Amino acid sequence: MITFYPGPSKVYPQVANYAAEAVRSGLVSLNHRSAGFMDIVRETMQLLHTKLAIPDHYHIAFVSSATECWEIVAQSLTAETSLHPYSGAFGQKWAEYAYRIKSPINLTDADVLCIVQNETSNGTQVNMAALANFRNDFSGLIAVDAVSSMAGVTFDWTLADVWFASVQKCFGLPAGLAVLVYSPAALARAEAIGERDHYNSLLFIHENFAKFQTPYTPNGMGIYCLMRVLQQIPPIADIDAIIKRQAADWYNFFEQDMANSPFRLLIDNPAVRSDTVIAVSGSEADIKAVKLTAQQAGITLGNGYGNWKNTTFRIANFPAISEEEIGRLRKFFVNYPTPTPKGGA
Ligand SMILES: *Cc1c(COP(=O)(O)O)cnc(C)c1O
Repeated sequence: MITFYPGPSKVYPQVANYAAEAVRSGLVSLNHRSAGFMDIVRETMQLLHTKLAIPDHYHIAFVSSATECWEIVAQSLTAETSLHPYSGAFGQKWAEYAYRIKSPINLTDADVLCIVQNETSNGTQVNMAALANFRNDFSGLIAVDAVSSMAGVTFDWTLADVWFASVQKCFGLPAGLAVLVYSPAALARAEAIGERDHYNSLLFIHENFAKFQTPYTPNGMGIYCLMRVLQQIPPIADIDAIIKRQAADWYNFFEQDMANSPFRLLIDNPAVRSDTVIAVSGSEADIKAVKLTAQQAGITLGNGYGNWKNTTFRIANFPAISEEEIGRLRKFFVNYPTPTPKGGA
């Protein structure tokens, strides 16, 4: 079975060995305040800086999910309220979580702008030029959910103060860990707000990670596997080039080769199309049929999500997916629906 599900998604096959290493070496039984464990945290943070080109002055912490990051932004970095110009289901959920913590009573005083860089639900993205416009127009903090794009494409990290991603998408790892990146301005904001009411208050998290520790017992297996994946992957600029070429190929494929099929790209405007999640639309019946036929051919397509649940399927274009697998999926589509053999039965 091969999977194009955009999360949880295909993990790098090497992760099976990395997980076994973490157990065999005793890492998972190490006290998380021991020198051996702290070395792994330090090395993983260093690798994130080098492999993903995160500026040296930006801080990194590990938490458990992107959803947790939504709450951290609301509780520790938002003084009044936040703005959420969203275009899909994840952006909407983030707004709902945030507003339960900081109510949207006075939106004109909003001090944090929350952007989903890659909207996994419908395959759209806020590109760096658009993010630069937000940066120019908004004087408060900018927080970016980059769950389905971090480790897949390059960012201009300085265009936002907070970036986060859980690892079950472009990092090609099992769920249960998230990377939280924050700028000195974000830290200064957290200090000014002074919120220390939660186990995951950013100030506690920061104080612990400054010592390569965590406020609670961390997902040591996840951090170890992240370290090993980061050692294995090329620099983000190289991954970005591959992912963008593959995305362009998918978009051309659906516009040209599949022009006579019952399927159309969900997003018409090329400027906002995602590089890492390709959303394809069709009638409910056609979508249902193609997902089933693909499944029978050993290929899992991503279901639609939210408003687009029954009228789209999604194709993850994540780095762990091989060229060979992409070739198999293209071939499946080229032969779909199976052409009637010439000359009859
Ligand atoms: C998957 C996803 C999330 C949720 O991540 P969790 O790890 O389940 O919290 C949030 N935002 C986006 C854009 C996603 O794709």
